[in-house]
Amino acid sequence: MGSSLAVARYLQKKKQLVTVIAPTDYPDFLHWLPGDNNVLVYTDDHDRANGIIEKADLIICLDFNALSRIGEMEEPVRKSSAVKMMIDHHQQPEQFAAYTISEPDICSTCQLVFEWMVDMGDKALIDKEIATCIYTGIMTDTGSFRFPSTTARTHRIVADLIEFGANGADIYNRVMDGSSESRIRLLGFALSEKLRVLPEYKTAYISLSAEELERFNFQKGDTEGFVNYALSVKGILFAAIFMDKDNLRKVSFRSKGDWDVNLFARAHFNGGGHKNAAGGASDLPLDETLQKFVDLLPQYRKELSQE
Ligand code: 5GP
Repeated sequence: MGSSLAVARYLQKKKQLVTVIAPTDYPDFLHWLPGDNNVLVYTDDHDRANGIIEKADLIICLDFNALSRIGEMEEPVRKSSAVKMMIDHHQQPEQFAAYTISEPDICSTCQLVFEWMVDMGDKALIDKEIATCIYTGIMTDTGSFRFPSTTARTHRIVADLIEFGANGADIYNRVMDGSSESRIRLLGFALSEKLRVLPEYKTAYISLSAEELERFNFQKGDTEGFVNYALSVKGILFAAIFMDKDNLRKVSFRSKGDWDVNLFARAHFNGGGHKNAAGGASDLPLDETLQKFVDLLPQYRKELSQE
């Protein structure tokens, strides 16, 4: 959302007619972002969105690198005669765009968006709203500037963003400190009742069934960050969270060091992402998905024994 809203406002300032289309609704903690009012959620109004996609001259795909990642929007976007451009930082991009900026070593798509605007000679167009959107994307994708992908360059860009008007304290507060009471209670439940630690594989995981999520009045985004608690257990290199989501089990993986969860997610859970943060899905029931996961660990004993 940060990269999309930043690019939308930038192009609007360049006198272009722009619509941001999100494939599905997104968490409440992002709905304050500048420009959010004009976002069209694909699943809310297919017809209108399809009309815009069909007539567009240019479709910019931000923060995903395979059209299958946008669900029901895949087909209309693939079919549209619009020129396609991709700006993304995930590994192994699909080649569907005429113009591709794909930099898997860069922390966030928002950093790439900033560099792109500067390379276009438009640094002067970056105002408070654009800076706020870009700052939000960099902050969330770097785990608040602490993941290894956070470089001196990232900090220099963030310094510029603050000078352009982004308020780091306010953004952090809006994104991170807006939890509902039920989300905090769900976190408590997940950590005290549902965390499993397997020290022999330096692995920890959490699972949440549909019934458990419902019991805590689950809202989209509520489990964001839970998996990091599993990874924060001393000695753990590999963390996962498994959740019932619609007809699937959605999985998030996180890792430390060289253990590559992008490869693991691609190989076993039809997913992908980054070396240290990836996701995927399983169509097995939750208990069978967990068993599949645990059964896979012995074959990675060597990788999971790194110091
Ligand atoms: P999260 O666990 O926060 O949902 O996602 C972590 C990273 O993995 C993100 O960069 C996200 O784009 C990627 N990811 C999550 N789920 C999937 C998936 O099902 N397929 C692919 N290819 N990537 C995913």
